[in-house]
Amino acid sequence: MNSDCIFCKIVNKEVFAAVLFEDDDIMAFMDIKPINEGHSLVITKKHAVLVDELEEELYLKLFPIGRKIANKIKEVFPETKGIMYFIADGEHAGQEVPHVHLHIIPRKPNDGFDFTFDPAYYDRLLTEEERTKVKDKLIPI
Ligand SMILES: [Zn+2]
Repeated sequence: MNSDCIFCKIVNKEVFAAVLFEDDDIMAFMDIKPINEGHSLVITKKHAVLVDELEEELYLKLFPIGRKIANKIKEVFPETKGIMYFIADGEHAGQEVPHVHLHIIPRKPNDGFDFTFDPAYYDRLLTEEERTKVKDKLIPI
């Protein structure tokens, strides 16, 4: 529990959230600024800023709940054509609330939401050698 954290306040029922799911470890609620109708967040009740601060067992509990929510969204909002499962892990990755959260984002055609890239991005495919060089830096994982 972090007393400055809005998600911890939601866990402690000090701040309202439209709660979809709750058990001993996990809570899921509606995003206050949804990209599309049904956009939800799945969090661990335990406060952690980054994924790496969570025990693996706890981290993995986010996903089954996220999938259940995603399936329900597709059922209830048939205009949903895909689901983006998204975790921004760190401020420079776009994390706005410093408490690990899995976004369940319903997507529909031309919904105006997208990652943006520098135009040069589209002109550059890595060669086999370049990909291998990066891979060699990362292994063993
Ligand atoms: Zn927190």
